Amino acid sequence: MKEISREARARLAALKETYEEASAYALGYPVNFDFDYEEILPFLKFNANNVGDPFHGTNYRVNSHDFEREVVGKFANLMRLDPEDAWGYVTTGGTEGNMYGLYMARELHPQGVVYFSQDTHYSILKIMQVLNMRNIMIKSQDNGEIDYDDLYETIRINRDVPVIMMANIGTTMKGAVDDLRKVRKILDDLAIRQSYIHSDAALSGMILPFVADPQPYGFDEGADSLAVSGHKLIGSPIPCGVVLTRKEYVARISRSVEYVGVMDTTIPGSRNAWTPLLLWYALEKHGMEGLTDIVAEMLSVAEYAVQRFNDSGIPAWRHHNSVTVVFPRPPQEVVSKWQLAPYRDIAHLITMPHVTRQLVDQLVDECLAIAPATR
Ligand SMILES: *Cc1c(COP(=O)(O)O)cnc(C)c1O
Repeated sequence: MKEISREARARLAALKETYEEASAYALGYPVNFDFDYEEILPFLKFNANNVGDPFHGTNYRVNSHDFEREVVGKFANLMRLDPEDAWGYVTTGGTEGNMYGLYMARELHPQGVVYFSQDTHYSILKIMQVLNMRNIMIKSQDNGEIDYDDLYETIRINRDVPVIMMANIGTTMKGAVDDLRKVRKILDDLAIRQSYIHSDAALSGMILPFVADPQPYGFDEGADSLAVSGHKLIGSPIPCGVVLTRKEYVARISRSVEYVGVMDTTIPGSRNAWTPLLLWYALEKHGMEGLTDIVAEMLSVAEYAVQRFNDSGIPAWRHHNSVTVVFPRPPQEVVSKWQLAPYRDIAHLITMPHVTRQLVDQLVDECLAIAPATR
């Protein structure tokens, strides 16, 4: 057996230390550090591959398609789509899920125009370029939600082409949710005959199913496809996500490939077999009750953070059902240490499960110590 050199081993040890240190102060990004996949680590010894459509089989039997279908079914339930009507797969993350949704929209409405707000995730403009789709950016309100008047006016002057709405279900920076009911009312009022709604629900897609009074987000409220991230709320050592759409739509784009014995409905050919297993394991372990508790605690810590900031004279705020706490951008040393995500004059902290009240206290204290001027 060949082994790596002592130097190489030392580099790995140093990297591990860096990860450990950085993980202790990660408050700014919507990723959960609180997980344990020890039990499924042995599966990393296999060259597993989920090539192709998880709902059709493949010649390559070292796969986790069964688990992937279960994951898709459970997510479909959460996103209010009857699993019988659902199709989807485990993606590499939110970006691929958004790309899939918009690809589907384009195949169904080749002449369509895509509308999305200024607060939309940066992946969308890139996807527009890759897919070469006509698109129009709509103004945002200060709270991060789309400006419905601007949306109405813009669609009104483009009434002759199908509307493809890229709705934010939780914006990256402010956690704002575009109101699907208002969007559908606009489509109705303007008598738009052909439309498609994609929900970008990267983080909030795993919050809203677990609260008592969710904003509209899913298929029951008009979504035709939806993307959610796996590494964000659930937490995973490898970025991943789930994309969902309706079975009937996918049937229109599928094509079989004899070489691997698959239906070629996914964007990648070879696909990760470990991430579906990992999401399956997390769902088994937490169950819906466990996830409900996790979300409740996250929201409670978010409210605690808003209060702590406000009590200290710092104007922090958050949207209803959001774990994204927005506050004035602190000095760079605070931003770097806590890995906060700044944007112009604001920053946010996201109360993922590893973010405790103690960490919030520490952050608020440091903001005060370093920048008394923000008071
Ligand atoms: C994180 C995020 C994405 C992209 O997810 P990746 O997994 O990084 O590709 C898309 N949309 C929103 C709103 C996000 O917060």
